[in-house]
Amino acid sequence: MISRRRFMQSTALPFLAGCMKLSQAASAAPAWKNWSGWQSCQPQRRFSPQSEAQLLSFISESSGTIRTVGSGHSFSGLVPTDDNLISVHQLAGLRRHNAENLTATFGAGTRFADVGKPLQDIGQGLFNMADIDRQTIAGAISTSTHGTGRTLGSYSSYIEELKLATAKGELLTCNRTSDEQLFRAACASLGALGILTEVTLQNRPAYRLKETIYPDQTMAVLEQAEELRQKHRHFEMFPMVNADVAIVQLIDETTEPLTPLAGTDEEDDETLQMLQKYGGMFPALRRWILNTVVGGMDKAELVGESWQILANTRNMRFNEMEYQVPAEHGPDCLRDILATIRAENIDIVFPLEYRYIKADDLMLSMFAGRDACSISVHHFAEYDYRPYFALIEPIFHKYGGRPHWGKLHTLTAKQLAPLYPEWDNFLEIRERLDPDRRFINPYLQSLFGLG
Ligand SMILES: Cc1cc2nc3c(=O)[nH]c(=O)nc-3n(C[C@H](O)[C@H](O)[C@H](O)COP(=O)(O)OP(=O)(O)OC[C@H]3O[C@@H](n4cnc5c(N)ncnc54)[C@H](O)[C@@H]3O)c2cc1C
Repeated sequence: MISRRRFMQSTALPFLAGCMKLSQAASAAPAWKNWSGWQSCQPQRRFSPQSEAQLLSFISESSGTIRTVGSGHSFSGLVPTDDNLISVHQLAGLRRHNAENLTATFGAGTRFADVGKPLQDIGQGLFNMADIDRQTIAGAISTSTHGTGRTLGSYSSYIEELKLATAKGELLTCNRTSDEQLFRAACASLGALGILTEVTLQNRPAYRLKETIYPDQTMAVLEQAEELRQKHRHFEMFPMVNADVAIVQLIDETTEPLTPLAGTDEEDDETLQMLQKYGGMFPALRRWILNTVVGGMDKAELVGESWQILANTRNMRFNEMEYQVPAEHGPDCLRDILATIRAENIDIVFPLEYRYIKADDLMLSMFAGRDACSISVHHFAEYDYRPYFALIEPIFHKYGGRPHWGKLHTLTAKQLAPLYPEWDNFLEIRERLDPDRRFINPYLQSLFGLG
């Protein structure tokens, strides 16, 4: 009779080992999720090239769709793919700079958190930054990520040159003189033209900023919005919803001495979450609490290097929709949103965000051809955002808004095309560079109407 041990050794163990290998092969690549957890996928392969040559070989030798991920901070479905997911995080760091022109060249996978200090060490500073510094340069420029400031454009508008690995296995160096059309398409391209490996940014001399934060009545701030926007380098506000107050943030250049920097206040996050959970049962009490607590905040002033002041930390996970409306419509659009939340009795406490951005001439930039006011709507990640966003989104459409490419919205090619004067030019360039649609996932298919 065969012993249990011999049976295991002769048949069962090799069989089990074989099964394990097969299942490992089938799920070789770890699953992927975005920052908020709403988007996910199970790619067949994940690859992080150590050089441009490795990346080009991968593109030529692989089959199926290729999507590239930065730091996964987009809320929309730009990244997910069942096939090949690439990250260029090993193509990172400051590569060279030009002290005279104040330009600096970074690996495209560099996070903005690793840009500020190295730039300061060579006497340079970014013109502006987004709310946080976790994004990669490639990821941020691909969605024309922005900060706030009437005279300040999105990250994409400060690109001097970029390198793009194409579906045909070429590495194109692209700037305004080499191929102006391709450059204006590639500076905000949703990862649909190829894979960015290197980006040269136009910077300015390193500088110091002073931030002033204070609470005020939202309607009063809106009355002054134009004046604040003209007067300050950066003006932004966070209107509380189901309340009457907002937090105002003004930032200007200074030579004042540095102050200790603020940490993040996790208690504030917890209070908001409690108010979301239980406040809907007592809306009048919730309004009173928000008005009293936020309205009673002390004015705060901070001085730091530009990159320290501009980037914040966001610990609380959420989902977000954001539209860019023409700058002059910003105040009315915000009034409409606040009135709708009140009239529809929407059970929400997450503050809105209200900012201004300068126009540029990039084909798919959300700021193409017009100065914009950006208004963002958020909901905690553990709640279904859809009923809330569905009530607000038509208001953005009424004001001619363009949705943020990296944030949630419901538009497809039919509605997007009329919002972008150079839509067809972009699609022609995409078709020329990638006729086999290697860089197109189902979400991009619907955005671009690729059938
Ligand atoms: C907490 C938080 C705060 C935010 N604040 C702001 C803000 O202040 N302003 C603002 O405008 N947005 C903001 N966003 C949105 C965010 O900046 C954008 O969605 C940005 O695109 C994310 O960059 P990422 O590096 O995470 O790229 P991902 O989200 O990973 O990718 C974004 C796009 O870039 C493409 N991509 C990535 N790498 C490459 C590459 N090497 N080559 C070609 N394509 C590539 C991807 O395919 C995808 O299409 C915020 C998001 C979060 C979660």
